[in-house]
Amino acid sequence: MYIVHSPTHQRHQPPYEIFNGEQTPHNEVPARADQIANALTAAGYGLEPVRLELDLAEIENVHDSNYLQFLKLTCEELKESEYRYPSVFRYRSGRESGNPLAQLGNYSFDMYTPLLHDTFEVASQSAACALQVAQTVLQAAQGGEVTAGYALCRPPGHHADFNQMGGYCYLNNAAIAADFLSAHGRVATLDVDFHHGNGTQHIFYESDRVFTASIHADPDWKFPFFSGYGDERGRGKGRGYNLNRPLQHGVTDDEYQQVLEEVLGHISSFRPEFLVVSLGVDTHESDPIGGFRLTTAYYTRMAKTIASMNLPGVIVQEGGYNTKLLGTNVVAFLDGFKH
Ligand SMILES: [Zn+2]
Repeated sequence: MYIVHSPTHQRHQPPYEIFNGEQTPHNEVPARADQIANALTAAGYGLEPVRLELDLAEIENVHDSNYLQFLKLTCEELKESEYRYPSVFRYRSGRESGNPLAQLGNYSFDMYTPLLHDTFEVASQSAACALQVAQTVLQAAQGGEVTAGYALCRPPGHHADFNQMGGYCYLNNAAIAADFLSAHGRVATLDVDFHHGNGTQHIFYESDRVFTASIHADPDWKFPFFSGYGDERGRGKGRGYNLNRPLQHGVTDDEYQQVLEEVLGHISSFRPEFLVVSLGVDTHESDPIGGFRLTTAYYTRMAKTIASMNLPGVIVQEGGYNTKLLGTNVVAFLDGFKH
């Protein structure tokens, strides 16, 4: 399996999240990616450092160019020790404001996702990991070979919307990979993170080139709350090309498997030529912010089921916050995905 990671991800280290007005420890810590990398190496997987430089002009289908410029310039202006959290969010006046404080609120949807001096650069490299894997998988497919690759992305991406950061995400790594592949064939994205992939859904909501599917905690119960319901099916040309399966607290391996098989059936009807998997292992029974009961052994079965579609695949790392077991769970998944 082709694996790409970014060795400089540690430079993005959010100091805390703000929940209910209080500073609480940040969950999206550098130890996450380090632990995954160590577990992969120990299991005999080779990791390649990212070589590709993200070209912002090539991701403008996925992210608003004003948003990208805002992220880049704001991070550049911050000193090494500085950070920015939004304080005021956009309300319904319909007016624009150039004030940096207003813009930060305009481009954010929560107070978990701060900007630091290195955030944009690290997020760009995270996206480049996904794109580098997508390019390699595409090249193999063009040579008649069905392969899969894994992008060890940090920060994660699936909550990042067209022009908003949130849920620890700045650039939507999976959407960037899917958009790239969609120039070469029909793409399905399957999001198995515990949380709804709201950004990926919204970015492709009016597209019939990318089918988006997400299995996640019922948004009435868990973040991101404002999307992820079963009646969100896409709009315009994209009508029928989005599928959500919200699940309740305590879902077991067998219950999850049933839903997964049903969702894969819908994905097959779309006849995709490429598959992008948003892999979050915050569905694990031990995850500190999750609420499902999936076991480590189940990730191998889950991956085998997904891999049985026999499509060129890009697996993109999203969430997972038990920093002791994250790597074991990712290894269990990749072991099951080998073609
Ligand atoms: Zn998650």
